[in-house]
Amino acid sequence: MQHEGNPLPKNRKKETERLAQDSIIQIHDLVYTYRHREEEINLPAINGISLDVERGSFTAVIGRNGSGKSTLAKSINALVLPTSGSVIVDGFKTDEEAHLWDVRQRVGMVFQNPDNQLVSAIVEDDVAFGPENLGINPDEIRTRIRIALESVDMYEHRKMAPHLLSGGQKQRIAIAGVLAMHPDIVIFDEPTAMLDPGGRKEVLDIMKQLHEEGITVVLITHFMEETIHCDRIVILDKGRVAIEGSPVEIFARTEEIEALGLRLPFAVEIAAGLRAHGIHVPQDILDTDGLVKYIVSESDTEMKRSKA
Ligand code: ADP
Ligand code: MG
Repeated sequence: MQHEGNPLPKNRKKETERLAQDSIIQIHDLVYTYRHREEEINLPAINGISLDVERGSFTAVIGRNGSGKSTLAKSINALVLPTSGSVIVDGFKTDEEAHLWDVRQRVGMVFQNPDNQLVSAIVEDDVAFGPENLGINPDEIRTRIRIALESVDMYEHRKMAPHLLSGGQKQRIAIAGVLAMHPDIVIFDEPTAMLDPGGRKEVLDIMKQLHEEGITVVLITHFMEETIHCDRIVILDKGRVAIEGSPVEIFARTEEIEALGLRLPFAVEIAAGLRAHGIHVPQDILDTDGLVKYIVSESDTEMKRSKA
């Protein structure tokens, strides 16, 4: 599907519903081994992953360093091709050369360091870079730049030099550059790792917004708090899927998560501590806000009871 014309389609969500239960990414028995100098023995970076990602879903991928997260991301947009197994994006196999651009156009990538993703001296030129490479006509490019910059709330900064922007703003420009290509899927590979809490929130809010607009979002992150509102969490370990499930399912498995070398979200850790002391906390409380509200309401009830 070639996206002609204008705005980031607001009707994507409808289309998404129509195509419900449709896997936009299908990964089957994927193995990927980096090739080094001959004498070295390599373990596969990806060692037998099968995974489907629903169109329009928001998936978080977590796992300790070296577990294969970035390699998985690169496999989805055909930056690396399967050693064995297959990756199919919106019906196109990543290793069929004739469809390389069909895959690349559908999958946008946002990386950790915004400085490495910005190539131009002016914000709007940066956003134009991708569409220009697609050979899109100048009128259409101008429209795309405006809409992409508006959707990350950076249109008024369009004439600025990227190096004068904050980390969060630079990352939003990088995201605008990806959106200007009209991707169906955006993969964020630790997009907030180099940002301060303010910048982190800006980028997180944009990811949520893109998801609401119907874009399929895959978020690779070290920050557990960023995963609690996703549809699904996939935990990688040594190039394999160790656990997957909804945030509530995943974070009920506290011991397994810790055994995989991962921290729990702060509120989940506190809730687990409270439970260990015999205090009941519902399993679906994953964020501090929810936990505070629960404790306040329980202690209110307690106080009323002791007064009565
Ligand atoms: P993560 O993103 O989870 O930290 P990666 O996908 O970057 O994991 O890496 C998975 C494994 O592949 C690691 O053992 C890593 O050392 C190895 N690896 C990653 N990139 C390369 C590369 N360009 N060449 C060789 N080995 C690599
Ligand atoms: Mg990585």
